[in-house]
Amino acid sequence: MSVAKVPVSGRKSVLIAGGAGFIGSHLCEILLARGHRVLCVDNLQTGTEDNLRHFEREERFRFIEQDICSPLHPKLKIDQIYNLACAASPPHYQEDPIHTMMTSVVGTRNLLEHAALFGARFLQASTSEVYGDPEQHPQRETYWGNVNSIGPRACYDEGKRAAEALCFDFRRLGKVDARVIRIFNTYGPRMQPDDGRIVSNFIVQALSGEPLTVYGTGKQTRSFCYVSDMVRGLMRMMAVEPAPKGPINLGNPEEYSVRHFAELIVGLTQSDSKIVYEPLPQDDPQRRRPDIGLAKKVLGWEPKVALAEGLLPTVEWFARCIDGRSERDRA
Ligand code: NAD
Ligand code: UDP
Repeated sequence: MSVAKVPVSGRKSVLIAGGAGFIGSHLCEILLARGHRVLCVDNLQTGTEDNLRHFEREERFRFIEQDICSPLHPKLKIDQIYNLACAASPPHYQEDPIHTMMTSVVGTRNLLEHAALFGARFLQASTSEVYGDPEQHPQRETYWGNVNSIGPRACYDEGKRAAEALCFDFRRLGKVDARVIRIFNTYGPRMQPDDGRIVSNFIVQALSGEPLTVYGTGKQTRSFCYVSDMVRGLMRMMAVEPAPKGPINLGNPEEYSVRHFAELIVGLTQSDSKIVYEPLPQDDPQRRRPDIGLAKKVLGWEPKVALAEGLLPTVEWFARCIDGRSERDRA
């Protein structure tokens, strides 16, 4: 991604909630490279300070360990807020489902109130999960979704839907210029090896010679977007004028079955691992692929990194994590 610096006059103070996480840390890095001031607010639930290590000495960077369910200090003056705070992996967000829901509802409200205080622009990281187990394929932004409001994924799906509603209420009331991006499955370096999502599980299993655990028949589909493409899209959404009317999907529209994806990882890592089948988690969406027509039209955005290209640095990242782990075990 090009990292042309903004002139000092264009320098902004940007708050990234969830900045110590996978996508958030890449966003911190690119905004710092562009010359902005970055304030990362994170409770380190699923993010780590290691993700911030290589720019923590940068004087334009500040980290505050805080849960967004508590209001921010009212003197933290900012120009823009990206809200990425929320565990994204199903096993993690289901560990403490009430906190997950509160993060999206109370946390998003706190950040919106803070944006209103300073006239800051706001971008909410929503999700393809607002479409639930979709009956329309591919998913367009006009589709209202098919979510089980009482199932184990509801804390995340319904929380994110409520956060979208809050954003558009703050906007209708003229309080905040709020924008919403619906992120589809995104992968890349800095995902945690024990994150529990498909990309981390399969790569770690393949590199460790363990069986790849396909849930259900493996016929369910997902589409995988490389993190640099995602971050470029988020920044484009923050910058575009005027504010787009509604939410916009960001993701890579190439669709793979879970089984095909497992075979691809075994091939790419030249692993001897077998594929095993385990029960499908409740309410696991059967098909998922974004329609990115709106992103192309309104943001001039489309993904540039093909899956085979993006998986290489991702596999290298997990190989380094595994090496680090075994070195620590030996010490
Ligand atoms: P992640 O789990 O790596 O990052 C989330 C970050 O938020 C972590 O650093 C975590 O510690 C922090 N956090 C969680 N609850 C918090 C709270 N109450 N207060 C402060 N910090 C909190 O996940 P990610 O993959 O980087 O996802 C980032 C955002 O994008 C999330 O909001 C997620 O819902 C959304 N998203 C991601 C994907 C994906 O495939 N990666 C897909 C759809 C949506
Ligand atoms: N999955 C799988 N094995 C794993 C992890 C995930 O088969 O070890 C499946 C999961 O059931 C789902 C898909 O892969 O159908 C994507 O799961 P993930 O947890 O990455 O995110 P989701 O898209 O469901 O939020």
